[in-house]
Amino acid sequence: MALIVQKFGGSSVADRDRLFNVARIVADTHNAGNDVIVVVSAQGDTTDDLLAKAGEITCDASGREMDMLLAAGEQISCSLLCMALSELGCRAISLLGWQAGFITDRNHQRARIRKVDTERLECEIGKNQVVVVAGFQGINRADDLTTLGRGGSDTSAVAIAAAMKADLCQIYTDVEGVYTADPRVVGKAKKLAEISFDEMLELATLGAQVLNNRSVELAKKYAVRLEVLSSLNPVPGTIVKEVAAMEGMMIKGVAKDENVSAISVLSVHDVPGIAFKVFSLLAQRKINVDLILQSVGRDGTKDLSFTVPSTDRKAAVELLTEQLSRFGGTGVQYDDGVAKVSVVGAGMQSHSNVASTMFEALYENNINIRMISTSEIKISVLIDAKDANKAVNAIHEAFVG
Ligand code: ADP
Ligand code: ASP
Ligand code: MG
Repeated sequence: MALIVQKFGGSSVADRDRLFNVARIVADTHNAGNDVIVVVSAQGDTTDDLLAKAGEITCDASGREMDMLLAAGEQISCSLLCMALSELGCRAISLLGWQAGFITDRNHQRARIRKVDTERLECEIGKNQVVVVAGFQGINRADDLTTLGRGGSDTSAVAIAAAMKADLCQIYTDVEGVYTADPRVVGKAKKLAEISFDEMLELATLGAQVLNNRSVELAKKYAVRLEVLSSLNPVPGTIVKEVAAMEGMMIKGVAKDENVSAISVLSVHDVPGIAFKVFSLLAQRKINVDLILQSVGRDGTKDLSFTVPSTDRKAAVELLTEQLSRFGGTGVQYDDGVAKVSVVGAGMQSHSNVASTMFEALYENNINIRMISTSEIKISVLIDAKDANKAVNAIHEAFVG
């Protein structure tokens, strides 16, 4: 008998029929003699709808109240799934994040899991029933609800699998696995039988939302057996593991991230310490900077350009404008109409032509590159958002065909 964690995303539990479909998958796994812990996301677009409801009231809600609101989504789906399981004759109990032992830090809306107290989970599993846990949520030391950030249910599932030493963690979603690019953008994208934790982490961080990047980080750290598969089509999915078979492909995938904004601080002093001052200011506010470009100094000044997540753009621009005199800058500009497109593959460091192949594909499609960043496992370019899908297709064609 194995212990299996099964996570179902929003589209997999979107309505009555989908809930019964999920209930059948879970019941079959349980009837086959396995212990099953299920993690669910909110139904369909519920989380977006809740965010919109808050937006009708204020654009400045506190993190605490936002978490109180957003946690409601997963509460609905976990109870409905238990009812569907019960209709199928499968005993099940639902638990909210705090009941399932999810203790997090205090950072509302992007809380990190401190630990999972498994006592209750073990007790309920011991009663030979399915346990259905509300994903994406936990509780902090002040007993306030917290949420883990968008896509956080994947992380809830992997955290349970790690804490309970589960034999397998299955992430069920609306595509058949991890592909060489988003199959909704690239018709020719290929499903990967296997991918390494490192490559998956990079793809997820660079915008492939099929897995949340923190879930991949956790799975690697605790050696969780992780599988991504479809809740609608019972075919083999993708195994995410330490070392994946090469499949003769150096490039594992192309990712797109449209949630980025470019910021430029203009004409700052061209003296030592300016980059330190600018970026430490942003780091203090926990704003992650990604691609960075510094112009050549001219007449004692230079421009500093970089990208931040779109959600942090407003705060970053306000902060830099307020402190502009510290860098001698003349202004702060921003552009939300940009996208980051990246190629990922562990084998690329030993191949000198990866960058040129990527740039050629963009050139042939008349797509201008605004910034570039490379590491041993990826190359990212910043381009106009309007060109993003064309770029993903062109780059995919150049590498995967
Ligand atoms: P869920 O609601 O199940 O968590 P998500 O919408 O978060 O599902 O993630 C699944 C989606 O991720 C797919 O519908 C697909 O459009 C998108 N996606 C982006 N990149 C990839 C990729 N490389 N492989 C598979 N899916 C991808
Ligand atoms: N419901 C949350 C979201 O939409 C968490 C998740 O689906 O993983 O981001
Ligand atoms: Mg998701």
